[in-house]
Amino acid sequence: MRYVSTRGQTENVSAAEAILMGLAQDRGLFVPKYIPKITDTFLENIMDLNYIQRAKAVLECYLTDYSEEELKICLKNAYGRQFDTKYIAPVHFCNKFYVLELWHGPTNAFKDMALQILPHLMTLALDKLQENKKILILVATSGDTGKAALAGFTDIPKLKIQVLYPYRAVSTIQYLDMATHLGENVSVLAVKGNFDDAQTVVKNIFQDTAFKKKLDLKNIRLSSANSINLGRLLPQIVYYFSAYADLVKIGKITLGDKINFCVPSGNFGNILAGFYAKEMGLPVNKFICASNKNHVLTEFLQKGEYNTHRPFYKTNSPSMDILISSNVERLLYHLADGNTKQISLWMTSLNTTGYYKVDEHVQAKLKANFWADWVDEETTLKRIYQMYVEEDYIVDPHTAVAVEVFTRYQKQTHDVSPTVILSTASPYKFSENVLKALKKEAETKDIFTCLEKLEKLLAKPMPKRLRDLKKKKIIHDVVCAKEEIQDFVYQFGKK
Ligand SMILES: *Cc1c(COP(=O)(O)O)cnc(C)c1O
Repeated sequence: MRYVSTRGQTENVSAAEAILMGLAQDRGLFVPKYIPKITDTFLENIMDLNYIQRAKAVLECYLTDYSEEELKICLKNAYGRQFDTKYIAPVHFCNKFYVLELWHGPTNAFKDMALQILPHLMTLALDKLQENKKILILVATSGDTGKAALAGFTDIPKLKIQVLYPYRAVSTIQYLDMATHLGENVSVLAVKGNFDDAQTVVKNIFQDTAFKKKLDLKNIRLSSANSINLGRLLPQIVYYFSAYADLVKIGKITLGDKINFCVPSGNFGNILAGFYAKEMGLPVNKFICASNKNHVLTEFLQKGEYNTHRPFYKTNSPSMDILISSNVERLLYHLADGNTKQISLWMTSLNTTGYYKVDEHVQAKLKANFWADWVDEETTLKRIYQMYVEEDYIVDPHTAVAVEVFTRYQKQTHDVSPTVILSTASPYKFSENVLKALKKEAETKDIFTCLEKLEKLLAKPMPKRLRDLKKKKIIHDVVCAKEEIQDFVYQFGKK
């Protein structure tokens, strides 16, 4: 399988090359030249497999330049004891829908699903391409990616990682998680600005040939662990298949039945992986895209207009506080039948005017595949409470947004297809807001009191990592302006 840029101005590359490069030279994103199709017996075959085996079956359609042995090693390293369940991504049953729990990894958010395997794919890529440079991973994060990337990349030979998060715009736990993270090869910076600012700076650095030359002289090559990296997207396709296989296996659906997936979305990486699964042949009816008050995606999917001229809100589902959802570009590439000229025009327009509108042909395809809505903060908290009362199940605010949007979807469309809601974070990770929603607010604002209170409500003890946060020292305390980032990157890179 070869990979091409969505903007059509670069040569096609292998998966290993695409994973090392992160972003294509022409600023486009790497996409497979075509989306591979599964065989008629594929779904049946994966039913009795475990998660790692299912992942192998899906990933070998894409990572054709990795040997079977190499894939097995990556998967074994990625989906092992660091997950707190051997099912890796288990399905929980509620009365009216299913919940796919994607937060059993080491940092309790769905980012682990891809970031536990990406470093291994990268190290192997370096070997394959006989590249003797060190790789510096630059990560812009709205909160969860930062810790998940740190957890994945720390102390991996030949790789260094630098994380940039918006100053004072992440949750307390997210902040402590990153600011206390130990590791020889890690750097963490707070950036004055919001997530989009951080992400734009990172994208600009990738574009800056002169700066990359400067790093090259120090034997450093830049790459990305953000969801613009192909190596983030591909592992996420797996759990859509896995959830489907689980539902068939326990007799909730029959092989071939179409189901819906409802996804709390920000950068559009998670839901896009679902779209890939559908294009490969997974029986899907609709993808329901759930957003918070920063509902640029809702408008886009409903009207085909992408408009960033709107206020930016900090919400109680911060991992979705995004106005520029990078992975939409990949979706457009596939919906516009690989018309890279058209994609370039839309993306240039987005860059210069903050707006573009897709043609009717693409709009019709958006409508056929997606349904979208958004939820305000108060309703999100209400939904957490309702889930607790009605289902005896506590969800985090991101998942609650999805549950609420799904409820509206069903009310408006009367669609009765079985639906899987993707749960993207453990409630522990957002314990302050969850407690607020459950009307059990801790008397103190102390985060550890909150965690302990929540622990009393949840049947499962809190992850040891969170308990231990209390004892950890803040070791990363640098706050920098956007203009200073490049210099920090250079200083860390050459170290
Ligand atoms: C990253 C994240 C999301 C958004 O996922 P995208 O792939 O960016 O759309 C939703 N919820 C949580 C908890 C996240 O960490």
